Amino acid sequence: MDELIEKAARIILDSKLTIALTGAGISVESGIPDFRSKGGLWDRFDPEEYATIWAFREDPEKVWQMLKEMEETVDSARPNESHLGLGELERMGLLKSVITQNVDNLHQEGGSRDVIEYHGNSRSLVCLQCGKRYDYQEKKGEYPPRCVCTKILKPNVVFFGEGIPVEAMTRSSQLASTCQALLIVGTSAVVSPFNILPRQAKQAGSKIIEINLERTVLTDHITDIFLQGKASEKVSQVVSAVKQLREA
Ligand code: NAD
Ligand code: ZN
Repeated sequence: MDELIEKAARIILDSKLTIALTGAGISVESGIPDFRSKGGLWDRFDPEEYATIWAFREDPEKVWQMLKEMEETVDSARPNESHLGLGELERMGLLKSVITQNVDNLHQEGGSRDVIEYHGNSRSLVCLQCGKRYDYQEKKGEYPPRCVCTKILKPNVVFFGEGIPVEAMTRSSQLASTCQALLIVGTSAVVSPFNILPRQAKQAGSKIIEINLERTVLTDHITDIFLQGKASEKVSQVVSAVKQLREA
């Protein structure tokens, strides 16, 4: 067994409260590009231009060109080994919650039950004019989707410039400041205020395991164990090691 993987597995087995923080990188192997992938969605739609609440308010029709593609990409995506692995850890009683920045529903589809969606989700829509909400199935295939009041609807995802849903923020903070192990997968950890959570956990004395293809702003000062590589590979290795050590 790889030494670092074994260390990570032991941390999880010894911890009384473990949580996971995930970002776009965990869904890349499911076919949803992160902000960095070349040739993906974000090469054509600059997030700074398309993913801000100001852009949406000013020209929702334009922003829906990006949302339509995002929706189609997400619709055809299936959970990969890393989503499934986290689901398995939860069922084994070794992972309390997943706090994700993703809006793609893949953690739920991968078997995780306690998922905190820090940036909302794309399965419901809201009217910024009258406040009416819709399930996304009701408006599927309608571009751009409109409210009965005729205003163009916004998906319930958190755009840059918008606040984090209060309950998600409160619960995440509470978990981060009490966990004993934190598993961070596929996030550059630069988007605020999500990036406060690893620091909060560190300050509270939690051990930090980070999985990423490359080093991030966390790796040198926050991370205890850095597992460099693909999320699917590393999460699966950690889960297998946990099982092996538990049975030993
Ligand atoms: P990011 O794009 O800033 O960073 C992704 C990170 O994942 C990078 O550090 C990259 O090295 C790493 N990565 C890429 N592929 C990987 C792989 N196969 N295995 C392991 N690591 C891999 O993403 P972020 O930190 O989540 O911030 C971007 C923001 O955009 C978030 O708010 C997120 O909600 C949103 N977003 C969401 C989705 C989605 O729902 N799937 C997709 C794109 C962007
Ligand atoms: Zn309306």
